[in-house]
Amino acid sequence: MAAPESFPVVTRFAPSPTGRLHLGHAFSALLNARFAAGHGGRFLLRIEDIDATRCRAELVEGIFEDLGWLGLKWEEPVRRQSAHMADYRAALDRLSAMGLLYPCFCTRKDIAAEVARSGAAPHGPDGPLYPGLCKRLPAEEQEARIASGAPYALRLHVDRALGLTGPLTWEDAEAGEVAADPASLGDVVLARKETPASYHLAVTVDDALQGITHIIRGQDLFHATHIHRLLQALLQLPTPRYHHHALLTDETGQRLAKRAGSPSLADLRQQGWTREDVFRRLGLWP
Ligand code: GLU
Repeated sequence: MAAPESFPVVTRFAPSPTGRLHLGHAFSALLNARFAAGHGGRFLLRIEDIDATRCRAELVEGIFEDLGWLGLKWEEPVRRQSAHMADYRAALDRLSAMGLLYPCFCTRKDIAAEVARSGAAPHGPDGPLYPGLCKRLPAEEQEARIASGAPYALRLHVDRALGLTGPLTWEDAEAGEVAADPASLGDVVLARKETPASYHLAVTVDDALQGITHIIRGQDLFHATHIHRLLQALLQLPTPRYHHHALLTDETGQRLAKRAGSPSLADLRQQGWTREDVFRRLGLWP
């Protein structure tokens, strides 16, 4: 990814402490740190720990330990998303004032039943798109249900949002100029009772607040950028350059992932791997 000389490069690695880091994380972290170093820029680490139902505080220490073992150095203080809820709340309030959010009272079961009933629900990268049940609720009913204490999520009214922004694009190191297609993800959830800011919202707000100029992350997050680009336009935030890198695979072509039983960096270390072994496995020079 080219960066003009006068452009102060700022990259970040932004893991969620939901498990120990594995080789895929090491690859992303190293690409970010090296890109920053190669351009005389800054490398930041951010802990994405908003989802209290999945994140575990003790895993944060493991992240520091693993990255330190790889020889990485990052700026302090490390931003922890859970300490910045007011920033995400402010962004939600702005979107709400623009008439772009609506409360959704559906359970997973309600959504699955509606998708099954309609027979031909459009699908996105994460499964069937939200079928819009609560989008059609009259305002009085929304208010009555909120007043009754019913739990609800806040969804982004994607069509209305796109009506405000018009067509959007982003620059991607591998894919070139990409036409953003946020509607392909449907009316995404931006907040819920137990997670008052979604990944999409928090990541977009933080990348802007921290002045991130280049986002280097796995191809598995490519689709999320459609929504991030829309949120940037709505919240008048700058658009970083993106590089969605290929995901690491094992000898059989299977994607390395915790779910697939891939060993963590801590496991590899215990098995006697050195950090040079990791670099070799990743095809990077030490
Ligand atoms: N926290 C996200 C994850 O661990 C990555 C965020 C990002 O790089 O945009 O999958």
